[in-house]
Amino acid sequence: MELNSRVPSGPIERKWDKHRFEMKLVNPANKRKYTVIVVGSGLAGASAAASMSELGYNVKCFCFQDSPRRAHSIAAQGGINAAKNYRNDGDSIYRLFYDTVKGGDFRAREANVYRLAQISVEIIDQCVAQGVPFAREYSGLLANRSFGGAQVSRTFYARGQTGQQLLLGAYQALEKEVASGGVTMYPRTEMLDLIVIDGRARGIVVRDMITGVIRSHVGDAVVLGTGGYGNLFYLSTNAKGSNATAIWRAYKRGAAFANPCYTQIHPTCIPVSGEYQSKLTLMSESLRNDGRVWVPRKPGDTRPPGQIPEAERDYYLERRYPSFGNLAPRDIASRAAKTVCDEGRGVGPGGLGVYLDFADAIARLGTQTIRERYGNLFEMYQRITDEDPYRVPMRIYPAVHYTMGGLWVDYNLMSTIPGLHVIGEANFSDHGANRLGASALMQGLADGYFVLPGTISNYLAGHKPDQVDASHPECRRIEEEVSARTGRFLAIKGTRTVDSFHRELGRLLWDKCGMTRNAAGLREAIAEIPRIREDFWRDVNVPGSDAELNQALEKAGRVADFLELGELMCIDALHREESCGGHFREEYQTEDGEAKRDDEHFAYVAAWQYAGPDQPPRLNQEPLSFEYVHLAQRSYK
Ligand SMILES: Cc1cc2nc3c(=O)[nH]c(=O)nc-3n(C[C@H](O)[C@H](O)[C@H](O)COP(=O)(O)OP(=O)(O)OC[C@H]3O[C@@H](n4cnc5c(N)ncnc54)[C@H](O)[C@@H]3O)c2cc1C
Repeated sequence: MELNSRVPSGPIERKWDKHRFEMKLVNPANKRKYTVIVVGSGLAGASAAASMSELGYNVKCFCFQDSPRRAHSIAAQGGINAAKNYRNDGDSIYRLFYDTVKGGDFRAREANVYRLAQISVEIIDQCVAQGVPFAREYSGLLANRSFGGAQVSRTFYARGQTGQQLLLGAYQALEKEVASGGVTMYPRTEMLDLIVIDGRARGIVVRDMITGVIRSHVGDAVVLGTGGYGNLFYLSTNAKGSNATAIWRAYKRGAAFANPCYTQIHPTCIPVSGEYQSKLTLMSESLRNDGRVWVPRKPGDTRPPGQIPEAERDYYLERRYPSFGNLAPRDIASRAAKTVCDEGRGVGPGGLGVYLDFADAIARLGTQTIRERYGNLFEMYQRITDEDPYRVPMRIYPAVHYTMGGLWVDYNLMSTIPGLHVIGEANFSDHGANRLGASALMQGLADGYFVLPGTISNYLAGHKPDQVDASHPECRRIEEEVSARTGRFLAIKGTRTVDSFHRELGRLLWDKCGMTRNAAGLREAIAEIPRIREDFWRDVNVPGSDAELNQALEKAGRVADFLELGELMCIDALHREESCGGHFREEYQTEDGEAKRDDEHFAYVAAWQYAGPDQPPRLNQEPLSFEYVHLAQRSYK
């Protein structure tokens, strides 16, 4: 497999401009002859579909929700980064680029990250023009706050609902194109396979989730903006529906899967409260602007927080990372929370929690200011825990939140299958081994509004719009495979629910491939997952039929894919004998417990290639070089 990153030559700050000039264009009169299939209508998919339709292409857009407005992107709370330097606090495109490369622990492609930082400033203008109600200062300028891993304030926000407001902007743009006939929207339609004809991605096989009808859609290129796979762990902050099926089926058709083991564990989530919980709730990182994280100094201290005097508290982030304090990046803050809990200093039921305390901020700024900044987040916390965070500190604990891994893409966002483009959280690019807060929305919108519309034109310009028909034998063959698989789930009629297998897999991965990993644990998981998979295919019970709305059937397909991807994740984590970002191998740490990279042997993207059923995946490497941000041990001290 060839991994050509297609990074343009020249100085980093000129690469994107030069590339835009050198890319081929499609004559405006010819654009309507091309059909582009976009799977996903979250921030990445909706912005891409709307922008390509605006350019003149025919777009077919698919999502499994009843409306694009319900994509997982709507959950994003805290904000979106952009190097506008409104605060005049020393920010610049270069600083955002630098922070992102360093924050990702030197495992991202420099050229992509620089482009992302450049485009960040355009995204804000675009969204403001759409009417996204960003918070403003008294002067009228857009307000900013800080997120982890940065010493400047560059995060734009709309209270604690930034994703929702941005998605409404993208949705409006999409609906305008639907109304004008440029986009045909297919809600409640799940992509279950990719159609590759003559080596090019030419379409998808979908199931209508209401009627169960399976059919093909064909086009000149396919774009996946299908989100992340954090739900592999069962418990995560992701929307319950988020899954890996689209990218996993594309992997099995030849798209390389990059860095599957890079998972982000977010430090500030509401702790797990019981065995049968099905979902975890994020408390936005923005809260760490004003909240102080602490635990009692003494292990086993069960006094209520208000009775623990200042001198007996350990503000461990401020102590260990004085320069960044409570705004240490997510991977570091999560591991620090795990460490204090492992020492027996955790708080709340089971000792799996730390305090996020607003008492000082309330004393300094007043309750009203705190309410204005975080009101909806405080209300959400109170509703879930029945504790009032204006009076007692929040209790938080790390939880699975985001996946930096995804399908490998080149600088044009094209996968290793020609014509298959991947955007947003579904691809692997830009965040390396650890994503900085407020950078996912930035990346999804950069990909959708600005990068893909140009790079896909470049691809299409090289191919005549020769329509493949949905009656093509390859479409028929894949439809039959999809139907057979659906039938297989229903025929098993075993004794266990799909969820019970999902929970079992999730617990195993959290224990063996979660916040920390080691070789012995990963080997155990690699031995155990095929056993769970075998049990699943023998004993799962999927009630109902395939000719109706059947959520158990939908879940069965998704969990079957998680059962395969989970194994690849552990294989990747085992082979990467170093610690970097969210991938913390216990064997590779510095004396003070920080991640210890091995740049000599592992400064590469691990792009795994499917080699057939029951065959080990093949490893391909894209070497990473750092010309601008020099390789160094990450320090936030
Ligand atoms: C609780 C929470 C808060 C967050 N807050 C922030 C924040 O403040 N700032 C930030 O930068 N990031 C944040 N993130 C991360 C960010 O929200 C996501 O990374 C981002 O929204 C992903 O956008 P996306 O468009 O790539 O995918 P999604 O929004 O997940 O959209 C995926 C789309 O693909 C469709 N789809 C998937 N599979 C299929 C299929 N097989 N067939 C058909 N359709 C399919 C879905 O229907 C959906 O439309 C947060 C994440 C969480 C969980």
